[in-house]
Amino acid sequence: MTYDPSNIFAKILKGELPCHKVHEDDKALVMMDIFPQSRGHTLIVPKAASRNLLDADPEALSALMPLVQRVAKAVKAATNADGLRLVQFNEAPAGQTVFHLHFHIIPVYEGTPLGAHAGGKADDAELAALARDIAAHL
Ligand code: AMP
Repeated sequence: MTYDPSNIFAKILKGELPCHKVHEDDKALVMMDIFPQSRGHTLIVPKAASRNLLDADPEALSALMPLVQRVAKAVKAATNADGLRLVQFNEAPAGQTVFHLHFHIIPVYEGTPLGAHAGGKADDAELAALARDIAAHL
């Protein structure tokens, strides 16, 4: 399986499509998942092109993980979630739908089941407010 540069996250990284941006640096873009499984569902998208974990450059991965941790802490602080899931899918049978590597931070609220993966679209104003709140805690 090879990397297809026409995937939707590559277009977002190039600025050709919009997103609810939380943070951007030379290594990654952090944005809200627009079909969230819970309030505050956030994606960390590395700029280095790879399809998923299997073809990622190990050095790019190790440079990315501190940001994943920072985002996890910021999401927890901004949402007051009781816990978080760090999720990453590899290939369609495993649930991958966008073929540019990304990590999900999914807040979990006690007593509230998670929504479906890539389910209903969230309200744009709510996503924008969450992006601001999470950015303020980074
Ligand atoms: P997966 O490839 O299975 O890890 O999932 C891709 C994720 O991207 C899903 O959780 C979708 O809800 C999310 N998603 C799809 N399109 C967009 C988009 N344009 N902006 C933000 N998130 C998206």
